[in-house]
Amino acid sequence: MERTPEQVLEEARALIADAKSEDDFESARIKYLGRNGEVTALLKSMGQIPAEERKEYGKVANAVKQEITELINGGKARALAESRAAKLMSERIDVSEPGTDIPFGALHPITQTIDEISRIFIGLGYSITEGPEADTVFHNFDALNAAPNHPSRDLSDTFYITEDTLLRTQTSPVQVRTLMSSEPPIKVISPGRCFRADTPDATHSPMFHQVEGLLVDEGVTMADLKGTLDAFAKRMFGSGVATKFRPHFFPFTEPSAEMDMSCFVCGGEGCRVCKGSGWIEILGCGMVHPNVLKVGGLDTERYTGFAFGMGVERIAMLKHGIDDIRLFYENDVRFIGQFA
Ligand SMILES: [Zn+2]
Repeated sequence: MERTPEQVLEEARALIADAKSEDDFESARIKYLGRNGEVTALLKSMGQIPAEERKEYGKVANAVKQEITELINGGKARALAESRAAKLMSERIDVSEPGTDIPFGALHPITQTIDEISRIFIGLGYSITEGPEADTVFHNFDALNAAPNHPSRDLSDTFYITEDTLLRTQTSPVQVRTLMSSEPPIKVISPGRCFRADTPDATHSPMFHQVEGLLVDEGVTMADLKGTLDAFAKRMFGSGVATKFRPHFFPFTEPSAEMDMSCFVCGGEGCRVCKGSGWIEILGCGMVHPNVLKVGGLDTERYTGFAFGMGVERIAMLKHGIDDIRLFYENDVRFIGQFA
């Protein structure tokens, strides 16, 4: 004899009473109410029940079905509510808890200095151009009128990659590239990295930065050079600074000069920054040598120009009172964090 509806109900009550998870209730539903479930079987077997008992049997079986359905649905709903509550608790966020402190990054002082120099020259109508850090001997020396025996060509001073290529020792090769690729009026600056086989110390680094400047047009004179660089010094270090030019030698400019600036710390009285002289050496400059203009195919009777180059580290060190160039490259956040 098959089991009676009462027996099925009794067993189902016990099983459902033990069920905890939604899955437990789902298994119970399949076991009793599924297509091949036990309650389903009870109802299917109605046809075999003697006609006189069938009505009563149907009533009981339907009541059993209803009770089991209610027990399962109710249990399932409770289990779902409980699992949701547990999930919410485990994912609870305390909005009053202090957040994780993520410090803001900042531009490196060298980048900041390059940006400041660039802004000044952009304000004077210059545009920015760049050249490769690995360049040819032609661009770095030959085209810049460097004599074949120029000391900086020496293997011990320059990082050669091959006989014909090297890590540029200055940003001046960008002058050559600009002259060869464009027509006057030319008005560019070119910031970038340079490399020399120097032993690192407080003022030397085998890698450093320069900003090169080049202006070529008709009728450009030394007065334009002086006015431009004086304006730069005043914007960079304060309107009170004065500039003076000392004769110097660079192969790619003639005449060549070094520009000194009155000390922005002591105003020329003499102090530690200017080593007592009242003046600070700030950059090299000169009128572009005709041999360099010729490399760019320019008519040297028609066009003249000036060029200048400055060390970014030197300017940053002066502005911020930094006494060791190596601090820029060690990336100690206690140092670079001061420029945020
Ligand atoms: Zn001084």
